[in-house]
Order: sequence, then C-alpha cells, then structure tokens
Amino acid sequence: MTDETLDPRSYTKLFLNGQYVEATNKETYGLKNPKDNTIVIENFPIAGPEDVDAAVRFAEEAFRGPWSRFTAVQRTECFLKLASLLEEDLMPIMRMDSLTSGIPVSLGPVREKTYIRNCVLYYAGWTDKHKGDYFPEDDGFVKFVRHEPLGVCAAINPFNSPLACFFLKAAPALATGNVIIIKPSEKTPLGSLAIATLFEKAGFPPGVVQVVTGPGSTGALLAEHMKIRKISFTGSIATGKKIQQAAAQSNLKRVTLELGGKSPAIIFDDANLENALTWTVNGIITRSGQLCVAASRVYVHKSIATQFIEAYKKRMRAAVNDFGDPQDPNVKLGPVVDAAQLEIVKQKVNRGKSEAELVVGGSQHGETGCYMEPTVFCNPKDDADIYRNEVFGPVSVIKTFETEEEVLELANDTEYGLVAGIFTKDVTRAIRMSSELDVGVVGINCVSLQSMQTPFGGKKQSGVGREFGEYALRIFTEPKTVLINMAA
Ligand code: NAD
Repeated sequence: MTDETLDPRSYTKLFLNGQYVEATNKETYGLKNPKDNTIVIENFPIAGPEDVDAAVRFAEEAFRGPWSRFTAVQRTECFLKLASLLEEDLMPIMRMDSLTSGIPVSLGPVREKTYIRNCVLYYAGWTDKHKGDYFPEDDGFVKFVRHEPLGVCAAINPFNSPLACFFLKAAPALATGNVIIIKPSEKTPLGSLAIATLFEKAGFPPGVVQVVTGPGSTGALLAEHMKIRKISFTGSIATGKKIQQAAAQSNLKRVTLELGGKSPAIIFDDANLENALTWTVNGIITRSGQLCVAASRVYVHKSIATQFIEAYKKRMRAAVNDFGDPQDPNVKLGPVVDAAQLEIVKQKVNRGKSEAELVVGGSQHGETGCYMEPTVFCNPKDDADIYRNEVFGPVSVIKTFETEEEVLELANDTEYGLVAGIFTKDVTRAIRMSSELDVGVVGINCVSLQSMQTPFGGKKQSGVGREFGEYALRIFTEPKTVLINMAA
C-alpha cells in the first residue's frame, strides 16, 4: 500500500456530507504537473453558490445533530483512529498531491508525516482539557465561563502546504466541537479531497469535515456566507484583506489570517557559521522557497561577511544538483507550483537585477518544468522590490551590518512580521533582541521553524491571530459567561 500513488481521476468531485458528489456548478478547470507541465486532470470541479450552500447546510446539520452529542473522549477516539489511519494512507495521498504541488515526495515520510501526525495527536489530547473558568459569589452571583464552539467554520488554504494546512485548521476546530469546510488552493486540491474521507473512516460524522474546490471565487462564497461563523485563512496579504472585508460586509464572521513574510536571519560574528549556513540555506531552499517562513533576508556582520557570503553562495549554487522529479523518492528539490508562479518569480528576479547585485542564479532551471534556480542578491538598494517584498521562490537577499542597533532597525523596517532568526553565541544579546524583533516567532540559532506546541502567526501585515498550540483552540471558540443569582 505505502508505495502506491492514488489515481487523481478518482478525486474530481466535491466531498460533501461524507460522500464524493458531482458539483452542481458545471464550470471546471485543468490541473498540470509543474515538473513538465503535462496535464494531470482536465476537468476539475469549481464549487458554485449552490454547492457551497449545500456544504453549509450539511455542516449545520452535523453541528447541531450527531457531532454535538460526542463527548470529549469520543472526539479524542476519532483523532486517535485518524492518526492510525494516516500511518498507511498518508503517503499515497502525498504522492498524488505532489502531482500538482511539485512538493518532493521525499519530504513526506519524515517531515510532512511527522508534522501532520504530531498535529493530530496534539489536538487529540486537548478535547477534554480546554477548560473554562469560575469566579466565586462574593457579590451574590456565581460566575462561570464556557468556551463554546463557533459552529460552521471554513478554512481557505494556500497552494504551498496543502495537507499540513488542512490538519492545522481542522484539528483544533474539531477538538473544540466545531465543523469545518475546507477549500484547498485551486492549484493543489487533490490531497485535500483524498484526506477528507479518512475523517469519516475515523468516526467523525458526515458533514463534520467537507471539502469544496475551486479558485478565489469559491473562497469568496465562503468568506461572504451568512451562515459561516469563522474563516481561518492562510495565503497572501492581498487575499487576506479581501476576506476580512467580505467577513465584515456579511455577518462579521471571525477571521484569522496567516499571511506572507519577508523573514530576516541575522548572523553575528560569534555565530557557529556551519549552523547558521545550514539553517539559512535550508530556510530559503526548502520547497523552492515557497514557505511563508522562508529566510529571505539575510543580514551578516561585516567582519564575517566575505567568509559567510562565499560559503552561502557555494551552497546555493550547489542546490541546483538537488533538482529533479518531485515524484522520485530520492529527489530533494522540486519546481515551483506552476507556470504562473514561475513567471511571477522570474519577473521579480529580473527587476531585482537592476536593484541589487545578482551573485547566484537568476534564471529558470531547464526548459520544460517550472524550476527556478536558487538565486542570491547582495547589496540591494534600500527601496528594492526584491529586498522589500515576498518573492515566494528560492530567492534571498543579503545585506551586511555593523551594530545590533543597526540590524534591528533594518530587520524591523518592513510591513511583514512573521518570523526571524538570530545566530550568535551571546545568549544575553539573543534574548534581548528576541523581544525587540517585531515578529511572531523568533528562532535563536535556528530560523524558519515552527513548533506545534507554541503559537504561530504574524505581526503587522503578516497576520491576525495565532494558530498552533493552545492558541488555536481560542480562535475556534468564544467564551460564554453564565451568572447565577444565589439569592433567588
Ligand atoms: P493566495 O492568497 O493567492 O490564495 C490562497 C487561497 O485564497 C486560495 O485557496 C485561493 O483560491 C483563495 N482566494 C483567492 N482569492 C480569494 C478571495 N477573493 N476570497 C476568498 N478566497 C480567495 O495565496 P497562495 O498564492 O495560494 O499562497 C501563497 C501565500 O500564502 C504567500 O504569501 C505565503 O506567504 C502565504 N502563506 C502564509 C502562511 C502562514 O502561515 N503565514 C503559510 C503558507 C503560505
């Protein structure tokens, strides 16, 4: 079983109320494999208004009906069954997902699977521990507070980590008793459709987890729906703003936004250079730079700049040798997600050539697929687009600095605020800087890392709200206060 790849032609329907069903809307679109631009599916469904309404109706029925009667322990049992199903079933699903995401299947067995498994098991343990509060009757009233589920939630996901994102949103939503409709990115929807049925097999009632597919227009139907109470969105800043507007203009549904980044890695002269090189290169190369947490700005102390930059360039150049067929289990580096994304990256890099000094890469790799050379710029102009804005490709920009104050100012001089990394042996400096960096997550002697146990999310325009850890339970619940008059 584990060497199989599922057939994508079996996953061309919506997943509603526990079943794969034809979309009522008859519009479709095609999906291609970014390794060679061959067609994977010609007619992939686009969910329209009636499909989304149906999903919401089934979700409401499940929320008020069977799901509401599940005890916390029963919810945990479903999560545990799901984790055991994933042992066998996740890899074939990942392999199919890779056909359109271009994510190397080699990342599956350890990285992706561990991440997803940890997520499911982590939230399995929370179902009966997300307690409320109690206040004594000093004023004649006993007061207690319950954290209640919001009801019908929706997740609108990006193309770059479709399966991990599915679980990061579904697990805390379900642990707290909600139901959820997932809309994967139109570029990478296959794995999400296949994953959905595992929830049914694990004992979650039909309608608790559903999947609707389609582009931004389908996402917009969710964002503006009057019966959806929460959108958990991961994607670009521009789309995040539209979703927040749609939420405000419809029913003031709750919105969490996990958005883009232009994350700094800061290397001091006392850093362990080997460690700093490993983290910073991996931090921009992994998934061809298509990670929100990518370490795309590198600040190096002037006294070690020549040595560090030479070694960094060497590794970035050498990464070209890791390119290959993402469906080959030995290949580490794949293409970007599609021709459109490649074009965006190429345009940004071409513009960068007049704004900064190109020192590695700068071109498409090969001619048939959507591969972009690992690319490094140095000495950018202060207002260079390549330095200031997210590329979402394997492209980094290096700048040098002399003092801690100077580098803090440089690192914080941005509208992004997702993650940062500090590389130094000076613990006092690292702790001091961790409070001064304007980001949601700071790594010390590491970067581009997330932990399931701790909150993850961005400051400034990198996001609103926090996912991961206990914090994700808060964004899927609302407190209700009950006051008991003890004099009655
Ligand atoms: P995107 O914003 O283009 O699309 C994301 C999702 O939004 C897709 O499912 C898309 O169909 C949907 N969408 C598009 N227009 C919509 C609309 N008007 N209403 C509702 N939904 C709409 O993002 P992308 O290109 O898929 O992903 C890349 C971006 O995601 C990058 O900026 C990256 O940094 C960010 N990202 C952030 C995190 C994080 O945790 N902070 C994680 C992964 C990716």
